[in-house]
Amino acid sequence: MKSLYGKFVLMTALIMVFSTIGGFLVTNTYYHRVMKARNDEKNVEIAKTIVDHIEETPQENLDEYLKTIGRIGYQLYVVDELGKSSFYGGDFRLKNLDRNSVEQVLAGHVYHGMRDFPRETFVTGFFANEMSNTIGVPFKHDNKQYALFIRPDIKLLFSEVHTILAGLIIATALLSLLAMLLVAKMLIVPITQLTAATKRIADEKYDTQLNIDRHDEIGQLAASFNTMVGQLQENDKIRKEFISNVSHDFQSPLLNIQGYAGLLKGGNISDEERKNYAEVIQSETNRLSKLTRQLLLLTSLDQSSRMVKYRDYRLDEQLKACINKYRWWLEEDRLNLHMKMEATTYRGDEALFENVWENLLTNAIKYNRPEGEIHIALEKKDGYIEVIVQDTGIGISEAEQSQLFNRFYRADTSRTKEGTGLGLSIVKQIIELHKGNIHVTSKPGEGTTFTIKLLNL
Ligand code: ADP
Repeated sequence: MKSLYGKFVLMTALIMVFSTIGGFLVTNTYYHRVMKARNDEKNVEIAKTIVDHIEETPQENLDEYLKTIGRIGYQLYVVDELGKSSFYGGDFRLKNLDRNSVEQVLAGHVYHGMRDFPRETFVTGFFANEMSNTIGVPFKHDNKQYALFIRPDIKLLFSEVHTILAGLIIATALLSLLAMLLVAKMLIVPITQLTAATKRIADEKYDTQLNIDRHDEIGQLAASFNTMVGQLQENDKIRKEFISNVSHDFQSPLLNIQGYAGLLKGGNISDEERKNYAEVIQSETNRLSKLTRQLLLLTSLDQSSRMVKYRDYRLDEQLKACINKYRWWLEEDRLNLHMKMEATTYRGDEALFENVWENLLTNAIKYNRPEGEIHIALEKKDGYIEVIVQDTGIGISEAEQSQLFNRFYRADTSRTKEGTGLGLSIVKQIIELHKGNIHVTSKPGEGTTFTIKLLNL
């Protein structure tokens, strides 16, 4: 039985069978413990009423009277002192009354066969149509001693009720089984849909959407599934774009290197040309090397397993060291750098933050105007640290600002400068990994300001 539906049906059937058996055992025990004695008492009363009537009306025909009682719904067995026996009413299935019990009743005792009926697990004494399961009372008629054994004729008494009861039980069982099957189908259909949809997703068919409009747990599962598919679709798009960007960014420097290497190999070139070609090759290999480093860093940042190595260090000193590293470039472009920094200790990953400052500073240099200015400020605020990197460069239009932190994004105005378009996405990712945020304000032609807020943990 492999399908969930099959299992459900089997389980329901088994539950019904076992609960019927369980119910039977419970009622049987109840009958033997409580009802048996009461039933015995009740039947002794009835038997006594019958024999009282016989003894009070000696003129009445005994045979006729007992036949009438038999017809009303009793099984009777009458024995006289000479051992002559007669039966009235329905037949006994088992004629297992022992001689001794008969003698006892003839001697004037009451026989409690119902009360003393042996207890059996699968036989409810109430229904056992046996002569030993009777009540025996003595009576006198025509100066003769008799013993009367009696039990209600269950078949006669209960025939209609029986049919109705049995019909009720069978109808209830069938209807509940049918209802269970329908409910199971209702529950299982969306699961089957979900399985089919999951298979489509496994085949990278991200256009799959589940159309399950329910408000229960399955509805919630379907809604989460649809959200997940949307996310996967988005990720897939980003992944494909990323691969195409990476391939393109590797392809163009490689083509340049190939071309210039070919020219160098060809000979017949002046020293000046050879120097120029070698410089292009050098610059393109630098570019490839930077691209590879940035991609590696991005990959490691993407893996959430990468643990940020928190350590207390002096942020102001890190920023100053970074500025010193690029002082040659500032001087080459005749840029004025102003800094206002408070001595600040920060807890974060020092190596990762080196990438942040280096990128922001080199961008402020790269995208500045000649003889422009750069302002760097570090200030401790209430509960956080604020770093501002401001330049007087080409600026970024408002439309482009929203895309600035996307991977491989480069504004049109910056195409003439060297770059990969990965730097700011790395910056943002590192800052967010430290629960901080970065914000940009810019005006084309006037300059750009990056404001970084870091939680002082
Ligand atoms: P890269 O500088 O390698 O191109 P980045 O991710 O660092 O990549 O920057 C993305 C783009 O944002 C740049 O190409 C440029 O168009 C723009 N940009 C970044 N910083 C500045 C800035 N200080 N002034 C003007 N434009 C900037």
